[in-house]
Amino acid sequence: MKVERLAKFLNGVKRDEPLAPHTSFRIGGPAKLFLRAKTAEEVEKALNLAQEEGIPWVVLGKGTNVLVADGGFPGLVVVNACGRFELEELGDKALLRAEAGVSLAHLARLTALKGWEGLEWAEGIPGTIGGAIAGNAGAFGGCVADVLERVEILGEKGQRLSLKPEELAFGYRHSAFKGELKGSVILSADFTLVKREARELKERMLRYRAERRAKQPKEPSAGSVFKNPPGHYAAKLIEEVGLKGFRVGDACFSPIHANFIVNLGQAKASDVLKLMELAMDRVWNVFGLKLEPELEFIGLNPPGGKIHG
Ligand SMILES: Cc1cc2nc3c(=O)[nH]c(=O)nc-3n(C[C@H](O)[C@H](O)[C@H](O)COP(=O)(O)OP(=O)(O)OC[C@H]3O[C@@H](n4cnc5c(N)ncnc54)[C@H](O)[C@@H]3O)c2cc1C
Repeated sequence: MKVERLAKFLNGVKRDEPLAPHTSFRIGGPAKLFLRAKTAEEVEKALNLAQEEGIPWVVLGKGTNVLVADGGFPGLVVVNACGRFELEELGDKALLRAEAGVSLAHLARLTALKGWEGLEWAEGIPGTIGGAIAGNAGAFGGCVADVLERVEILGEKGQRLSLKPEELAFGYRHSAFKGELKGSVILSADFTLVKREARELKERMLRYRAERRAKQPKEPSAGSVFKNPPGHYAAKLIEEVGLKGFRVGDACFSPIHANFIVNLGQAKASDVLKLMELAMDRVWNVFGLKLEPELEFIGLNPPGGKIHG
């Protein structure tokens, strides 16, 4: 009944929408309710209604860092597709304002080619600004926290707030959005960029692109599945415990990059979880190191492995 009410009041909401096509892993069952929101007001209305009706909800960007349950999600999935942005040039600095649904890599390319440094490390990261802030995405020595100026959020009680990076508990692939701000939604963000020779930035991005092409698999994946434990590389640890290329169903630790699990066709979330648990157990048994998932889990519990440490 609650679902009926919500569906009635939300324009464009779909029922039982398969989530696999909305993720880079191409894995996951249906969302009971699904909305692609193009404005902050649509996001706000949808989440307020879900909250009022007591329906569980989750916000996704491009779904490039998530594993969705085979049984799907029993509530409302809102894809943040709010795509407006503007670049204000202020002498040797520029202020980039972007809504959470804008593609990070698109902004990286666009700003670098105009001679603004700050996001070029994001060349090839396939997510949105919202997902990138939530996970403090980074590569090649750069990360979101380094260039973020401010973020506008929809707080847990539906209030709009403007927060500074110091308030967001940024760490390695971590932010307060995975902790105390878990019930909040990122609506937009400001970034400060600095003037630099466009040619130099372009060369850097071409280098990053070439490196990704050489070292990352082409099959559907969600990027790195585990964080690197301090002082170690997860990919190397997985390889050293004999799991590089190991397969469960159609899920496989990539023979090209062992910290990527790839979907060879019909992989299930349960196959991915089995692989992750196997790696966590083996790495703990052989090296006494904990592997911590980098992925977010939608509609299912994170892999526990055995109780470690
Ligand atoms: C081939 C490949 C390469 C990758 N390389 C890298 C890399 O080099 N570095 C890196 O850091 N990551 C990498 N990733 C992972 C991923 O692309 C990034 O983490 C990306 O920032 C996730 O953005 P998204 O929009 O896809 O988020 P989603 O996967 O949609 O969501 C991820 C999490 O963020 C939350 N979220 C999304 N939007 C919002 C919002 N508006 N407000 C609040 N929470 C939100 C979701 O609820 C979820 O918990 C890679 C992935 C792939 C597939």
